[in-house]
Amino acid sequence: MENVVIIGTGCAGLTAAIYTARANLSPLVLTGLMPGGLLTTTSIVENFPGFPEGVDGYELMTRMQKQAEKFGARVKFATLESVNLDQRPFRLDVDGDLIETKSLIIASGAGHKHLGLESEDRLEKKGVTYCATCDGALPMFRNKPLVVVGGGDSACEEAMYLTRFASEVYLIHRRDSLRASRIMASRTLANPKIKPVWDSLVTEVLDVNLDKVTGVRVKNLKSNEEIVLDCAGVFVAIGHVPNTKLFKGIIDMDENGYIIPKHGTETNVTGVFVAGDCSDHVYRQAVTAAGLGCAAAIDVERYLAGLNS
Ligand code: NAP
Repeated sequence: MENVVIIGTGCAGLTAAIYTARANLSPLVLTGLMPGGLLTTTSIVENFPGFPEGVDGYELMTRMQKQAEKFGARVKFATLESVNLDQRPFRLDVDGDLIETKSLIIASGAGHKHLGLESEDRLEKKGVTYCATCDGALPMFRNKPLVVVGGGDSACEEAMYLTRFASEVYLIHRRDSLRASRIMASRTLANPKIKPVWDSLVTEVLDVNLDKVTGVRVKNLKSNEEIVLDCAGVFVAIGHVPNTKLFKGIIDMDENGYIIPKHGTETNVTGVFVAGDCSDHVYRQAVTAAGLGCAAAIDVERYLAGLNS
């Protein structure tokens, strides 16, 4: 039986793994389908303390995993299929195998939010994408106009990155100013290749009939006018949805699916703890996720010590 199983290998999960491993709890850490979490899809992380030159997101996560493994964490490429948290020990179905554990840390992070258009779904991977660093360099996007949707730090980062490949980047945002941090917003707006399209929503991705992206239909929310912008790719960067579906009805969460901890990092189910973006819709930073992973590990350690005393 496991002392602790950690769901997720983003900043929260791997920090929890480092701490629980150093506490000799030999944590089992499940990667899910995105080992390293969302940070692996970022280019340079400039605001993680200790890296004045910035650090590549993938490299940062690889180093965190190595650090956790050095102290005895076992990282397994596997997906949690279902949980039974009514019984002690907890019972987890992991890719069809039963795993029993005394405690659980949910650090399952968040995934990309979609616009919710049928044309967006039909053209996903045919020009519609959610990750510029993963797909931006593809030949289909080279020297072509590209669209980024969103007004936050992610959208700015995507737009800036895409200027390396695109002829121009339309940044379509539903307001008349960016939500992004001031430094990101001013860098973005100063880039001559980035053309902001304010107060606007993408209402359709074209062209489903051609089975590839040729443009977007855009509605101005103030004038209600619609235009078509030609482009070869649409990069959607409008935020995230927590990966918590599996725990719905079992663990307390808000209407958007973010887990609500009860005491510290402990959830409404004693012995189940939460950390990172799956419970945080406010700060959502690599360093805050890491901090919460540390807190969850300390809470688990105390919980297990209590069981044994
Ligand atoms: P975000 O800050 O929540 O921004 C999402 C943007 O998408 C907002 O501008 C929002 O518009 C827009 N949006 C949301 N739903 C939409 C819809 N259905 N249609 C059109 N537009 C929609 O998300 P984020 O940019 O992914 O950032 C998440 C967190 O990660 C933030 O805390 C951010 O600071 C952090 N982050 C940091 C860095 C960095 O420091 N290098 C990089 C990336 C992300 P409204 O403004 O109207 O709400």
